[in-house]
Amino acid sequence: MHLDTRVQELPTVKKILNTHLKTLGIETVKDLIFYFPFRYEDYSRVVSIKELRVGETVSVRGTITLVAQRRSWKRRGMITEILLNDATGRLKITCFNQPYLSKILTQGQEVMVAGIVRAGPLGVQMTNPTIEKIQGELTHTARLVPIYPTTAGITQHNLRFLIKKALACVSEVRDWLPFDIADANKVPQLHASLHAIHFPDTSAHFELARYRFAFEELFLIQLRSGLRRRAATEDRAHAIFFDQNTIKDFVARLPFELTKDQRVAAWDIVRDMANATPMNRLLQGDVGSGKTVVGAMACLDAAVNGFQAAWLAPTEILARQHFQTLRELYKVQHGMTVALLTSAAQEYYQEGVRPVKKNEVCALIEKGQARVVVGTHALLQKSVAFKNLALLIVDEQHRFGVRQRHALEKQGHPRGIVPHFLSMTATPIPRSLALTVYGDLAISSIKTLPTGRKPIVSRLVPPGKREAAYQFIKEHIRAGRQVYIVCPLIEPGLGEQTAAFGYNERKAVMEEYKRLHDQVFPDARVGLLHGKLKSIEKERVRREFTEGRYDILVSTTVVEVGIDVPNASIMVIEGAEHFGLAQLHQLRGRVGRSSHQSFCFLFADEVSEKARERLEFFVHTVDGFKLAEQDLAWRGPGDVYGTMQSGFPELKFASFSDTQLIATVRTAAEEFIKKTPDLRAYPELRARLADAEEAHFE
Ligand code: ADP
Ligand code: MG
Repeated sequence: MHLDTRVQELPTVKKILNTHLKTLGIETVKDLIFYFPFRYEDYSRVVSIKELRVGETVSVRGTITLVAQRRSWKRRGMITEILLNDATGRLKITCFNQPYLSKILTQGQEVMVAGIVRAGPLGVQMTNPTIEKIQGELTHTARLVPIYPTTAGITQHNLRFLIKKALACVSEVRDWLPFDIADANKVPQLHASLHAIHFPDTSAHFELARYRFAFEELFLIQLRSGLRRRAATEDRAHAIFFDQNTIKDFVARLPFELTKDQRVAAWDIVRDMANATPMNRLLQGDVGSGKTVVGAMACLDAAVNGFQAAWLAPTEILARQHFQTLRELYKVQHGMTVALLTSAAQEYYQEGVRPVKKNEVCALIEKGQARVVVGTHALLQKSVAFKNLALLIVDEQHRFGVRQRHALEKQGHPRGIVPHFLSMTATPIPRSLALTVYGDLAISSIKTLPTGRKPIVSRLVPPGKREAAYQFIKEHIRAGRQVYIVCPLIEPGLGEQTAAFGYNERKAVMEEYKRLHDQVFPDARVGLLHGKLKSIEKERVRREFTEGRYDILVSTTVVEVGIDVPNASIMVIEGAEHFGLAQLHQLRGRVGRSSHQSFCFLFADEVSEKARERLEFFVHTVDGFKLAEQDLAWRGPGDVYGTMQSGFPELKFASFSDTQLIATVRTAAEEFIKKTPDLRAYPELRARLADAEEAHFE
């Protein structure tokens, strides 16, 4: 076995497992080694049965005295009952839908079980604990146990087993962090850190590994932005003349008055674009603050000067929505043209001109006739050549990688001319930190929401009040309002249980849809939207909801980013405990977009004290910025990488609160670049940088 051995060559990896591993992006032994856990279960406390206390998470060692299996009609599945004895007592264990247990466990066997202790009718018991036979070093119990993001079909056991095997090759991995830098900053060695990130002996051991990976993460970001900064000093952009009259005219015809922050942001942007130095600006503003119209002004400014603008959206739905919004905004703008280009759709709009054929859209872009082009990744992949791209807008910037940006930047610009760059995000980051982390990014912030909006009323709905909430929703539907009901995607770490219960995204949302449609709201028109639908279908459902043909849209988080339906005034979030604060805030931002009073209801049936506290905080906090900060602050070492929820996927190990570390790394990176600008003596580092860019590519 070597680093580049394919996983299917490992003895235990059968065809199906191999397919599932591929879904996780794991193809080689090296991929296994670099597949990191996103949290740990602390099973390190081993106690005797007599010492078990309800609510504690522990491991217990004992001998199996009974294994019995029966079918349960109520829970529709198999129940395995196990009795475990040690010198101090007996523990009852119940496992649901794991029929294989009765095959692999036998009476008299010594095992370690780990999990949460619960109260049962005959004293304490455990439900679905992790069970491990005692043989050699323990992997799944009696220690800090890694929990990996996974998917149906692969259990935590599978992953731990394979990764532990793979770690035998760890010494083949070349440490890429320059020795001087590692040494000066006491950064632990890569090999030891890789072991410790998967199977830490103690939390201090984990902390060291975290430090190592936080350091290298920040170092890479700093190095990249440092190198870019160096290169950028030679870049040039088209200087776009600020056409004051056109913009004034546009603003005067808007159906609303711009807020002060919107005006300032637009002014920042057009001024930047008037320079021959490329703009690199971040426009941040809470959900619903009105970033789109600001972007529309920037595009207009480029277009009236005869240039093209490209607007990248993270999803098909959002691209189409922007296309429609822009078309609407530019309706009376003489000569304005807007194109849409995604993998599923191509459309073109020019006032007073009949729609063009699908296959003509690319040609119109190449000729420069399509001035504003909205699209998804497809825009990058379809080898579309712009004639004179002068502005690139990236919506919800974090979803796009550096490499994609470069792909567009290079287009049609042989002479070192790059487009001005504007990224937009609803996840605010503190300005000082943005500067240290991302280098010389200029920032515009829209802090106030448009006037006339009533603050959204948020409530955490206890199980007993669920019916009342449904009644409330029915009244609002009768009054003509629309409602979102969002179901969680199942948390990646739950793969083990979810696989055992045959749970998956589509099924979960389908069942909830059926329940709501048939039982709860039989008189309402209920639509369904989930990630597995074809894009044409998604688009149809979204359009019908926008047109008011559904009262309720049941959906997974595909509605999260940017959908804009002002008549929707209630957001219901099921299983709210599965969402991060930032994500909840994004969802809440889908309502409250008109003068109607809007509501956000969180349903969370059985949650821990900690989760309840988090949700209560959310309910009482309207400021997205405060929520983002709190999200970071609440993250303990066990779940440092809740990045999917933080909105900053680039930072998996480091956090914005590591200000000291960020500053240290920045200095180290700057000095390093000064000494060795071409990295020639550091092939491993160069390879690592290339890898990191690759990883950004979704
Ligand atoms: P986001 O910043 O989340 O992208 P949008 O640009 O989608 O927000 O704007 C949200 C809604 O607010 C849209 O329906 C938009 O037309 C409206 N809007 C934007 N600016 C204003 C304003 N100044 N006054 C009133 N409504 C506005
Ligand atoms: Mg938006």
